[in-house]
Amino acid sequence: MAEKKAFASKFIAAPGKKFSLAEHDPRDDSAFDDKDKTKEQLLKDAAAIDGLQDRLFAEGKRALLVVLQGIDCSGKDGTVRAVFNASGPLGVTVKSFGVPSEVERAHDYLWRVHQACPAKGYIGVFNRSHYEDVLVVRVEKLAAADAIERRYDEINAFEKLVANSGTRILKFMLHVSKEEQAARLQERVDDPTKQWKFKAGDLATRAKWADYMAAYETAISRCSTEHAPWHIIPADRNWARNAAIARIVREALEEMNPQYPLPKDWDPKAVKIL
Ligand code: AMP
Ligand code: MG
Repeated sequence: MAEKKAFASKFIAAPGKKFSLAEHDPRDDSAFDDKDKTKEQLLKDAAAIDGLQDRLFAEGKRALLVVLQGIDCSGKDGTVRAVFNASGPLGVTVKSFGVPSEVERAHDYLWRVHQACPAKGYIGVFNRSHYEDVLVVRVEKLAAADAIERRYDEINAFEKLVANSGTRILKFMLHVSKEEQAARLQERVDDPTKQWKFKAGDLATRAKWADYMAAYETAISRCSTEHAPWHIIPADRNWARNAAIARIVREALEEMNPQYPLPKDWDPKAVKIL
Protein backbone atom coordinates (compact mmCIF):
# COMPACT_ATOMS: atom_id res chain seq x y z
CA MET A 1 0.00 0.00 0.00
CA ALA A 2 2.80 2.42 0.91
CA GLU A 3 4.48 1.69 -2.40
CA LYS A 4 1.23 2.30 -4.26
CA LYS A 5 0.71 5.62 -2.57
CA ALA A 6 4.16 6.57 -3.75
CA PHE A 7 2.97 6.43 -7.37
CA ALA A 8 0.26 9.07 -6.96
CA SER A 9 2.51 11.16 -4.75
CA LYS A 10 4.92 11.66 -7.67
CA PHE A 11 2.26 13.80 -9.30
CA ILE A 12 0.58 15.59 -6.38
CA ALA A 13 1.01 19.36 -5.96
CA ALA A 14 1.84 19.72 -2.26
CA PRO A 15 -1.07 21.30 -0.36
CA GLY A 16 -0.35 24.77 0.98
CA LYS A 17 2.77 25.27 -1.15
CA LYS A 18 3.29 27.71 -3.99
CA PHE A 19 3.11 25.71 -7.18
CA SER A 20 5.19 26.35 -10.30
CA LEU A 21 4.61 24.69 -13.67
CA ALA A 22 8.19 25.44 -14.70
CA GLU A 23 9.29 22.57 -12.44
CA HIS A 24 7.14 20.10 -14.40
CA ASP A 25 8.25 18.80 -17.79
CA PRO A 26 5.24 17.97 -20.04
CA ARG A 27 7.36 15.25 -21.72
CA ASP A 28 8.43 13.60 -18.48
CA ASP A 29 7.84 9.84 -18.66
CA SER A 30 10.16 8.82 -15.83
CA ALA A 31 7.27 7.24 -13.94
CA PHE A 32 7.35 4.45 -16.55
CA ASP A 33 10.18 2.43 -17.99
CA ASP A 34 8.85 1.08 -21.27
CA LYS A 35 6.16 2.38 -23.63
CA ASP A 36 4.78 -0.99 -24.78
CA LYS A 37 4.68 -2.43 -21.27
CA THR A 38 3.03 0.74 -20.02
CA LYS A 39 0.32 0.46 -22.67
CA GLU A 40 -0.34 -3.14 -21.59
CA GLN A 41 -0.49 -2.03 -17.98
CA LEU A 42 -3.01 0.67 -18.91
CA LEU A 43 -5.37 -2.00 -20.27
CA LYS A 44 -5.01 -3.96 -17.05
CA ASP A 45 -5.61 -0.86 -14.93
CA ALA A 46 -8.69 0.07 -16.99
CA ALA A 47 -10.07 -3.45 -16.52
CA ALA A 48 -9.35 -3.27 -12.78
CA ILE A 49 -11.15 0.08 -12.60
CA ASP A 50 -14.18 -1.63 -14.16
CA GLY A 51 -14.15 -4.32 -11.47
CA LEU A 52 -13.72 -1.79 -8.68
CA GLN A 53 -16.48 0.37 -10.13
CA ASP A 54 -18.81 -2.64 -9.99
CA ARG A 55 -18.01 -3.03 -6.29
CA LEU A 56 -18.47 0.71 -5.69
CA PHE A 57 -21.89 0.55 -7.37
CA ALA A 58 -22.95 -2.56 -5.43
CA GLU A 59 -21.80 -1.04 -2.15
CA GLY A 60 -23.73 2.14 -2.93
CA LYS A 61 -22.23 4.19 -0.11
CA ARG A 62 -19.48 6.27 -1.64
CA ALA A 63 -18.51 7.95 -4.91
CA LEU A 64 -15.40 8.97 -6.83
CA LEU A 65 -15.07 12.31 -8.61
CA VAL A 66 -12.38 12.66 -11.28
CA VAL A 67 -11.77 16.25 -12.41
CA LEU A 68 -9.94 16.73 -15.72
CA GLN A 69 -8.60 20.17 -16.50
CA GLY A 70 -6.24 21.27 -19.25
CA ILE A 71 -5.95 23.69 -22.09
CA ASP A 72 -7.33 22.80 -25.56
CA CYS A 73 -5.66 19.70 -27.03
CA SER A 74 -4.34 18.54 -23.65
CA GLY A 75 -6.25 15.30 -24.17
CA LYS A 76 -9.20 15.43 -21.79
CA ASP A 77 -11.51 13.49 -24.13
CA GLY A 78 -8.83 10.92 -24.96
CA THR A 79 -8.22 10.37 -21.26
CA VAL A 80 -11.89 9.62 -20.60
CA ARG A 81 -11.84 7.09 -23.44
CA ALA A 82 -8.63 5.36 -22.38
CA VAL A 83 -9.27 5.21 -18.64
CA PHE A 84 -13.01 4.49 -18.54
CA ASN A 85 -13.83 2.67 -21.79
CA ALA A 86 -13.56 -0.70 -20.07
CA SER A 87 -16.05 0.41 -17.43
CA GLY A 88 -19.70 -0.33 -18.00
CA PRO A 89 -21.81 2.77 -18.69
CA LEU A 90 -24.08 1.97 -15.73
CA GLY A 91 -21.85 3.33 -13.04
CA VAL A 92 -19.84 6.08 -14.74
CA THR A 93 -21.16 9.55 -15.51
CA VAL A 94 -19.24 12.04 -17.66
CA LYS A 95 -20.09 15.72 -17.62
CA SER A 96 -18.51 18.32 -19.89
CA PHE A 97 -18.62 21.93 -18.77
CA GLY A 98 -18.82 24.51 -21.55
CA VAL A 99 -19.76 28.17 -21.62
CA PRO A 100 -22.56 28.52 -19.02
CA SER A 101 -26.11 28.74 -20.35
CA GLU A 102 -28.44 31.60 -19.50
CA VAL A 103 -30.07 29.51 -16.77
CA GLU A 104 -26.68 28.53 -15.36
CA ARG A 105 -25.52 32.14 -15.37
CA ALA A 106 -28.63 33.08 -13.38
CA HIS A 107 -27.29 30.94 -10.49
CA ASP A 108 -24.04 30.90 -8.56
CA TYR A 109 -21.14 29.28 -10.45
CA LEU A 110 -21.15 26.11 -8.34
CA TRP A 111 -24.84 25.38 -8.93
CA ARG A 112 -24.36 23.43 -12.14
CA VAL A 113 -21.29 21.70 -10.72
CA HIS A 114 -22.94 20.46 -7.53
CA GLN A 115 -25.80 18.94 -9.53
CA ALA A 116 -23.33 17.02 -11.68
CA CYS A 117 -21.41 15.49 -8.77
CA PRO A 118 -21.66 11.70 -8.72
CA ALA A 119 -24.34 10.03 -6.62
CA LYS A 120 -23.28 7.32 -4.16
CA GLY A 121 -22.09 4.28 -6.07
CA TYR A 122 -20.91 6.23 -9.10
CA ILE A 123 -17.69 7.41 -10.64
CA GLY A 124 -18.23 10.94 -11.97
CA VAL A 125 -15.84 12.42 -14.50
CA PHE A 126 -15.70 16.17 -15.11
CA ASN A 127 -14.37 17.24 -18.50
CA ARG A 128 -13.51 20.81 -17.43
CA SER A 129 -15.09 21.87 -14.17
CA HIS A 130 -15.69 24.65 -11.65
CA TYR A 131 -12.01 25.50 -12.15
CA GLU A 132 -13.00 27.24 -15.41
CA ASP A 133 -14.48 29.83 -13.04
CA VAL A 134 -10.98 30.76 -11.88
CA LEU A 135 -9.24 30.06 -15.22
CA VAL A 136 -11.03 31.36 -18.33
CA VAL A 137 -13.14 33.64 -16.12
CA ARG A 138 -10.02 35.14 -14.57
CA VAL A 139 -8.06 35.50 -17.80
CA GLU A 140 -10.99 36.93 -19.75
CA LYS A 141 -12.20 39.01 -16.77
CA LEU A 142 -15.71 37.55 -16.99
CA ALA A 143 -16.42 38.31 -13.32
CA ALA A 144 -15.37 41.01 -10.86
CA ALA A 145 -11.81 40.60 -9.54
CA ASP A 146 -12.88 40.47 -5.88
CA ALA A 147 -15.52 37.83 -6.65
CA ILE A 148 -12.92 35.68 -8.41
CA GLU A 149 -10.53 36.17 -5.51
CA ARG A 150 -13.11 34.71 -3.11
CA ARG A 151 -13.65 31.66 -5.28
CA TYR A 152 -10.53 29.75 -4.23
CA ASP A 153 -11.75 29.53 -0.64
CA GLU A 154 -15.29 28.85 -1.82
CA ILE A 155 -14.07 25.99 -4.01
CA ASN A 156 -12.05 24.49 -1.15
CA ALA A 157 -15.10 24.64 1.12
CA PHE A 158 -17.34 23.17 -1.59
CA GLU A 159 -14.93 20.30 -2.25
CA LYS A 160 -14.69 19.69 1.50
CA LEU A 161 -18.47 19.35 1.66
CA VAL A 162 -18.47 16.89 -1.23
CA ALA A 163 -15.58 14.92 0.30
CA ASN A 164 -17.21 14.84 3.74
CA SER A 165 -20.34 13.46 2.10
CA GLY A 166 -18.48 10.34 0.95
CA THR A 167 -16.95 11.33 -2.38
CA ARG A 168 -13.25 10.82 -3.02
CA ILE A 169 -11.97 13.67 -5.21
CA LEU A 170 -9.01 13.40 -7.62
CA LYS A 171 -8.09 16.43 -9.72
CA PHE A 172 -5.83 16.16 -12.76
CA MET A 173 -4.14 18.98 -14.64
CA LEU A 174 -3.17 17.71 -18.09
CA HIS A 175 0.08 19.58 -18.57
CA VAL A 176 0.80 19.94 -22.30
CA SER A 177 3.56 22.11 -23.79
CA LYS A 178 2.88 25.04 -26.07
CA GLU A 179 4.82 23.28 -28.87
CA GLU A 180 2.78 20.11 -28.56
CA GLN A 181 -0.45 22.10 -28.56
CA ALA A 182 0.65 23.74 -31.83
CA ALA A 183 1.19 20.32 -33.42
CA ARG A 184 -2.20 19.07 -32.23
CA LEU A 185 -4.03 22.22 -33.34
CA GLN A 186 -2.40 21.84 -36.76
CA GLU A 187 -3.69 18.26 -36.91
CA ARG A 188 -7.19 19.53 -36.16
CA VAL A 189 -6.87 21.98 -39.03
CA ASP A 190 -5.58 19.35 -41.47
CA ASP A 191 -7.50 16.19 -40.55
CA PRO A 192 -11.13 16.12 -41.80
CA THR A 193 -12.07 13.81 -38.90
CA LYS A 194 -10.78 16.37 -36.41
CA GLN A 195 -11.77 19.65 -38.03
CA TRP A 196 -15.05 19.68 -36.11
CA LYS A 197 -13.07 20.14 -32.92
CA PHE A 198 -11.29 23.24 -34.15
CA LYS A 199 -12.63 26.60 -33.10
CA ALA A 200 -11.13 29.98 -34.03
CA GLY A 201 -11.41 30.88 -30.35
CA ASP A 202 -8.80 28.22 -29.58
CA LEU A 203 -6.18 30.45 -31.22
CA ALA A 204 -7.25 33.44 -29.11
CA THR A 205 -6.85 31.27 -26.01
CA ARG A 206 -3.45 30.08 -27.21
CA ALA A 207 -2.35 33.70 -27.67
CA LYS A 208 -2.91 34.16 -23.92
CA TRP A 209 -0.88 31.07 -22.99
CA ALA A 210 1.14 32.76 -20.24
CA ASP A 211 -2.00 34.20 -18.62
CA TYR A 212 -3.67 30.81 -18.61
CA MET A 213 -0.63 29.09 -17.13
CA ALA A 214 -0.42 31.76 -14.41
CA ALA A 215 -4.11 31.20 -13.64
CA TYR A 216 -3.47 27.44 -13.40
CA GLU A 217 -0.56 28.03 -11.04
CA THR A 218 -2.70 30.18 -8.76
CA ALA A 219 -5.58 27.69 -8.77
CA ILE A 220 -3.30 24.74 -8.05
CA SER A 221 -1.36 26.63 -5.35
CA ARG A 222 -4.53 27.56 -3.55
CA CYS A 223 -6.76 24.55 -4.18
CA SER A 224 -4.54 21.49 -3.87
CA THR A 225 -5.75 20.11 -0.55
CA GLU A 226 -5.57 16.86 1.41
CA HIS A 227 -9.25 16.23 0.68
CA ALA A 228 -9.00 17.12 -3.04
CA PRO A 229 -5.41 17.01 -4.32
CA TRP A 230 -4.27 18.28 -7.70
CA HIS A 231 -2.15 15.88 -9.74
CA ILE A 232 0.07 17.37 -12.42
CA ILE A 233 0.15 14.97 -15.36
CA PRO A 234 2.76 15.31 -18.12
CA ALA A 235 0.51 15.27 -21.20
CA ASP A 236 2.75 15.61 -24.27
CA ARG A 237 2.77 11.83 -24.63
CA ASN A 238 -0.73 10.36 -24.70
CA TRP A 239 0.33 6.93 -23.51
CA ALA A 240 2.13 8.30 -20.44
CA ARG A 241 -0.78 10.62 -19.65
CA ASN A 242 -3.41 7.86 -19.88
CA ALA A 243 -1.31 5.37 -17.94
CA ALA A 244 -0.59 7.78 -15.10
CA ILE A 245 -4.22 8.76 -14.63
CA ALA A 246 -5.49 5.17 -14.87
CA ARG A 247 -2.95 4.05 -12.28
CA ILE A 248 -3.86 6.85 -9.86
CA VAL A 249 -7.60 6.22 -10.27
CA ARG A 250 -7.10 2.49 -9.74
CA GLU A 251 -5.03 3.09 -6.62
CA ALA A 252 -7.62 5.43 -5.16
CA LEU A 253 -10.39 2.88 -5.74
CA GLU A 254 -8.25 0.14 -4.21
CA GLU A 255 -7.67 2.31 -1.17
CA MET A 256 -11.41 2.92 -0.91
CA ASN A 257 -11.80 -0.87 -1.16
CA PRO A 258 -15.55 -0.99 -1.81
CA GLN A 259 -17.31 -4.15 -0.66
CA TYR A 260 -20.13 -6.19 -2.12
CA PRO A 261 -22.95 -6.08 0.42
CA LEU A 262 -23.82 -9.28 2.25
CA PRO A 263 -27.37 -10.57 1.89
CA LYS A 264 -29.66 -8.98 4.45
CA ASP A 265 -32.57 -10.93 5.99
CA TRP A 266 -31.95 -14.05 3.91
CA ASP A 267 -29.52 -16.94 3.74
CA PRO A 268 -28.09 -17.89 0.31
CA LYS A 269 -27.65 -21.48 1.53
CA ALA A 270 -31.32 -21.70 2.41
CA VAL A 271 -32.54 -20.62 -1.04
CA LYS A 272 -33.51 -23.39 -3.46
CA ILE A 273 -34.20 -22.36 -7.03
CA LEU A 274 -36.52 -25.06 -8.36
P1 AMP B 1 -14.51 22.60 -25.22
O1 AMP B 1 -14.18 21.92 -23.92
O2 AMP B 1 -13.37 22.67 -26.15
O3 AMP B 1 -15.76 22.08 -25.84
O4 AMP B 1 -14.82 24.14 -24.88
C1 AMP B 1 -15.61 24.53 -23.83
C2 AMP B 1 -15.41 26.02 -23.66
O5 AMP B 1 -16.25 26.47 -22.61
C3 AMP B 1 -14.00 26.39 -23.29
O6 AMP B 1 -13.55 27.44 -24.08
C4 AMP B 1 -14.12 26.81 -21.84
O7 AMP B 1 -13.18 27.78 -21.46
C5 AMP B 1 -15.52 27.36 -21.81
N1 AMP B 1 -16.06 27.40 -20.45
C6 AMP B 1 -16.21 26.37 -19.60
N2 AMP B 1 -16.66 26.79 -18.41
C7 AMP B 1 -16.79 28.12 -18.49
C8 AMP B 1 -17.20 29.14 -17.59
N3 AMP B 1 -17.58 28.84 -16.33
N4 AMP B 1 -17.21 30.40 -18.02
C9 AMP B 1 -16.83 30.70 -19.28
N5 AMP B 1 -16.43 29.80 -20.19
C10 AMP B 1 -16.41 28.52 -19.80
MG1 MG C 1 -12.15 22.99 -27.57
